[in-house]
Amino acid sequence: MDYNKLADFLFPHITKTPEDYEKMFPERELPEGAKVTRLGPSPTGFIHLGNLYGAFVDERLAHQSGGTFYLRIEDTDDKRYVEGAVDIIIDSLKFFGINFDEGATKDGDIGIYGPYYQSQRGEIYGCFAKELVKKGMAYPCFMTSEEIEEIRAKQEANKENPGIYGKYALNRNLSVEEVEEKIASGMPYVIRLKSDGKTDVPAEEMDYFEVEDGIRGKVSMPVNNQDVIILKANGIPTYHFAHVVDDHFMRTTHVVRGEEWLPSLPIHVELFEKTGFEMPVFCHTAQLMKIDEESGQKRKLSKRKDPELSLDYYRNEGYHPAAVREYLLTILNSNYEEWRAENPAADIDEFEFTTEKMSNSGALFDLNKLNDVSKDTLVRIPASELRVFMADWSREFMPEITKYFEDDAEYIEKILDLGRTGDKPRKDLVYAKQIFEFINYFFDEYFEIQDELPENAAADAEVILKEYLASYNHADDQSEWFNKIREITEKLGYAVKPKDFKKNPDMYKGHVGDVSTVIRIALMGRSQSPDVWEIQQILGEERTRARIEKFMNK
Ligand code: GLU
Repeated sequence: MDYNKLADFLFPHITKTPEDYEKMFPERELPEGAKVTRLGPSPTGFIHLGNLYGAFVDERLAHQSGGTFYLRIEDTDDKRYVEGAVDIIIDSLKFFGINFDEGATKDGDIGIYGPYYQSQRGEIYGCFAKELVKKGMAYPCFMTSEEIEEIRAKQEANKENPGIYGKYALNRNLSVEEVEEKIASGMPYVIRLKSDGKTDVPAEEMDYFEVEDGIRGKVSMPVNNQDVIILKANGIPTYHFAHVVDDHFMRTTHVVRGEEWLPSLPIHVELFEKTGFEMPVFCHTAQLMKIDEESGQKRKLSKRKDPELSLDYYRNEGYHPAAVREYLLTILNSNYEEWRAENPAADIDEFEFTTEKMSNSGALFDLNKLNDVSKDTLVRIPASELRVFMADWSREFMPEITKYFEDDAEYIEKILDLGRTGDKPRKDLVYAKQIFEFINYFFDEYFEIQDELPENAAADAEVILKEYLASYNHADDQSEWFNKIREITEKLGYAVKPKDFKKNPDMYKGHVGDVSTVIRIALMGRSQSPDVWEIQQILGEERTRARIEKFMNK
């Protein structure tokens, strides 16, 4: 069989040689140990937590080692292409602090290893498909979908492995003349890998290969024996082929990708062998899982059921990027929380991220845990920064409240810092939407009575407030203020100590907590809030008195 002839016949337009490409895309000059990683999203417009999770690993590996992290757009499936998708990818990741050094950008490609859109790399894939045909390692296949369907049915009936391999690979040995004839008659064809894997031995006699996965350690699997498609009928490469060619010529050292690709690893290993390219280190990340609310079972996060899978969710709700990063690291590296506990003030990038500390059995995503991490993260962010963060978030998602974060910086910063200073800071702030709801009683337009008066003191509300207003002195310090509350409590027949009331409920109408809750409700509209005295100091005397009066006159 004259494979050269076949290759020239199939790829007459390919003039460059593999050596040309090796020269065009030389090995990168990077410091020893520097890692080159990439994100290869499809431009579908939907960017999810899994992408961010993987991107985070890529980014850390590259930037911790003085390497390069680039963006490659895997747009070989034009049916899924969504206008503006690349901008969405870049912007969303940037928001979470992930920046690329090279590749597709909003203003075109940056870097000498491009083009970084797979759709523009046709000639390169053609060159290597041609090369494989030349070496007798790939061949054109004209099998029709009916033939393939028939084979599938037969394999199913015989309980055999599905796919095109061995005796089912009907076009493996066509002569050049047969190929020419079929093409001349207009038959469409794909290019298939001619696999070397044994196809006629029992499972226990299959050959195995071993690969050292960056996350999983030693991975051992049966070698590939499928004649997989490498170029589709329209000349576009499959993922398998594009991955091998691109990661070689973009000089990727570490391929971080979801574990859903693990079953295809045998194909990739065979393709790396046949092309003679050096294999990168594979890092197969665990799937993001959650506990299903209904069944209580672990399951994969789903686009349909779980809004939190979309990165937009975190933007809309207003999670601070630092909190999301912090949380992702807690699920990415098992030793992260310990590190954070020991280094509460350290910059997150000082943590040494390693793939070895990653879970390989499904990373559990938990919104409640994210919220807890977020509370801890926000406590460390100064009010002045939080104010700017809130202003930026609201400009996009709630423009009607931006003024509160811009007009009076002093007022809003006091509000944001309420109870956050001191040894035991309150951790009430979680994400922008929640923060605004939590503090909105400071703004008259949003102030409303949300909670009921306490049962024990409801009937006395007016008289409590009357006494309160009469004794109110804005200049009182916290203890003077509280002494006055105690006096009112006693005077009106309530217990100053809640435990006295508990012991002798018949002797009192209620206790000091009921009295102060009445004041809380008049001032904040809520029965729970940070320290009342501090809130009054922020509200100012006029607003404080006005709210009490308004409540009394209701
Ligand atoms: N385009 C592939 C995906 O979106 C990329 C997988 C990879 O990183 O190799 O799943």
